[in-house]
Amino acid sequence: MKSLKENFQKAHIVIIGSGIIGKFNALELSELGFQVTIIDPTQLQNSSNAALGLLMGNMYQKKRGRSWDLRKQSIELWPQWITFLQKFNCALNIEKPLIQLTTNEEKFKKLEKFIYESNDLDLKILERDSIFIKNINKAFQTKNIKGMISLQDGRINAFSLLKTLDKYLKYKKVNLLEEEIIKIRKSKNQWLSTTKNNRDIKSDIVILCNSLKAVNLLNNISDEIKLKPVLGQAMEIEINDAEVDLLSLPKQFNINGKNIIPKSKNKLIIGSSDEYSSKPEENTFEKLTNFLDKKPNWLMKGKISKKWYGIRSRPDGEPSPIMRKIEDGLLICTGFYKNGILLAPACSKWVANEIKIYLN
Ligand SMILES: Cc1cc2nc3c(=O)[nH]c(=O)nc-3n(C[C@H](O)[C@H](O)[C@H](O)COP(=O)(O)OP(=O)(O)OC[C@H]3O[C@@H](n4cnc5c(N)ncnc54)[C@H](O)[C@@H]3O)c2cc1C
Repeated sequence: MKSLKENFQKAHIVIIGSGIIGKFNALELSELGFQVTIIDPTQLQNSSNAALGLLMGNMYQKKRGRSWDLRKQSIELWPQWITFLQKFNCALNIEKPLIQLTTNEEKFKKLEKFIYESNDLDLKILERDSIFIKNINKAFQTKNIKGMISLQDGRINAFSLLKTLDKYLKYKKVNLLEEEIIKIRKSKNQWLSTTKNNRDIKSDIVILCNSLKAVNLLNNISDEIKLKPVLGQAMEIEINDAEVDLLSLPKQFNINGKNIIPKSKNKLIIGSSDEYSSKPEENTFEKLTNFLDKKPNWLMKGKISKKWYGIRSRPDGEPSPIMRKIEDGLLICTGFYKNGILLAPACSKWVANEIKIYLN
């Protein structure tokens, strides 16, 4: 340990998994001057690439507890990281506001109470005669949609964010290995991560950011973490109705739990579902369009032009996410079955603090 303490930033950190959590940790740790290696065999097929990128921070209704603390920290960190990352992609941005809608009277009353009690001027009930509500009700051929607007929440394009992080990591010469890690073990104060090709990668610290598969690597180390797969699906729908202009709708909104992102006059994205399985079923369209009692005609006749899914990990028997020190030099960040994009900055801050404590 002595040499590590003396050479604080010379510590070599291996991050297993290059989804948003692995990449954000790499960003934070590289900025602190650490030597970082990220290892992942299939960067593009993870749940981060499937994410819609909604950042539901301030509109979260429980303003206490760990989940709120993580959200609050991320809400504060996001603007700083966006300014920083814009050096690598000037178009990267958080598109605001975010609108949450419901057709359920009881849920709407809860929203009203939440806004009244939160005393946050950036959260407002959308009046029945507001242009947003008028356009939404018109497009969805109903009169029952009501909701709130959060001026400081929004959406980041997750795919573009991941690409920007790649650009940053390349610029910082962060080592990226396209390998699968099949085992980790400690030997003489160092960690050895063994690849499928039987190569041992030495490091002072290992951070497991490989979602569901993290449990396999902990086999001989700890059996206290249990994760279950949660599949999330999303689709792009193309409509053919000259009377409906999807661009008259807000840029991102949620109706009865489904996220909707209009892409053009006749295309929108709808997601995401929570299915306790690892294989998508065939009835994606039905699953993702069942958010209203009666679907508008244009939606009923819509055709799927793209569909995709991601498999996330949900902690079994404890709250999401799991951010924990397992042993000296071994950290785990997993179980981000929801909100992994939103929470990535708070997670990387926690990791950096743990590493500072370990090395000091
Ligand atoms: C359809 C959909 C919509 C979503 N929308 C949102 C949203 O709007 N807002 C939001 O905040 N979140 C959203 N999410 C959730 C978000 O995508 C997740 O919370 C987040 O992506 C989790 O990131 P991760 O880095 O933990 O996992 P992943 O992105 O799954 O990354 C894990 C990585 O580990 C790698 N790996 C696995 N095993 C090994 C091994 N042995 N060796 C090396 N590498 C390994 C994998 O290849 C993978 O790349 C959505 C998810 C889905 C599916």
